Amino acid sequence: MGDEEFAASLFVNAAGAKAADIAKVAGFELPVFPDCHEAGVTEPVERFMEPMIVDIRSDAESGNYYFYQASTGQIIFCITPRPQIWGRDKDSTSTFLPLVVRRMLELYPRLRNLRVRRTWRGMYPMTPDGLPIVGYPDSAVNFLQATGMCGQGFMMGPGLGRLLARTIAAGGCHDRPAGATEYGFVFEELSINRSFDHVELLK
Ligand SMILES: Cc1cc2nc3c(=O)[nH]c(=O)nc-3n(C[C@H](O)[C@H](O)[C@H](O)COP(=O)(O)OP(=O)(O)OC[C@H]3O[C@@H](n4cnc5c(N)ncnc54)[C@H](O)[C@@H]3O)c2cc1C
Repeated sequence: MGDEEFAASLFVNAAGAKAADIAKVAGFELPVFPDCHEAGVTEPVERFMEPMIVDIRSDAESGNYYFYQASTGQIIFCITPRPQIWGRDKDSTSTFLPLVVRRMLELYPRLRNLRVRRTWRGMYPMTPDGLPIVGYPDSAVNFLQATGMCGQGFMMGPGLGRLLARTIAAGGCHDRPAGATEYGFVFEELSINRSFDHVELLK
């Protein structure tokens, strides 16, 4: 982005794991860090499980992990490595599959005959407490942050997008972020000015 200048009445930062880089352009620090996670997908099979299973236990090499069967039959699975892997490397590792498969089979041996189609690696936009950062920072008052979705952005993103669109349309700004809506609590709880001293368990 170099020395380019941009002018608009309102900017929105929704740059995921790159959100901190974008905040820097506006001259402030945003505590959103790229946190590498891998996932895998199996071949599709006839439906045999309904719930998404989340195992929040940790062991020496991993934190929580989850798997579920998509409506199209594939099992999709993901595990939190331990220690966390910070950075932007998208190469798959040789450790992911043995680690997650061992834990999944211990919990649910029936998965043992499934064939894995592929694995991939991406980044959670991680915050210190595992919760998003939403709102207008004091040092960049027309720069709405919609960032830090961590490992829950597929679930929260659509709702948050809708909520922010409404607050913008209702005149939201730094001094009155929710505009003429009832969503003020979202801006309070997810403010960049909060103390990041507790940690969400399922981040
Ligand atoms: C392996 C893995 C499994 C996951 N599983 C789940 C799950 O089961 N459930 C769940 O809820 N979440 C899951 N997540 C987390 C989820 O992917 C993220 O929370 C979510 O994608 C964040 O959404 P976002 O819109 O904030 O950012 P992103 O989806 O990263 O979107 C940011 C966009 O901004 C663009 N961008 C960045 N910089 C610029 C720029 N300078 N100019 C223009 N555009 C830019 C990027 O190209 C990108 O399109 C998973 C993540 C990974 C890696």
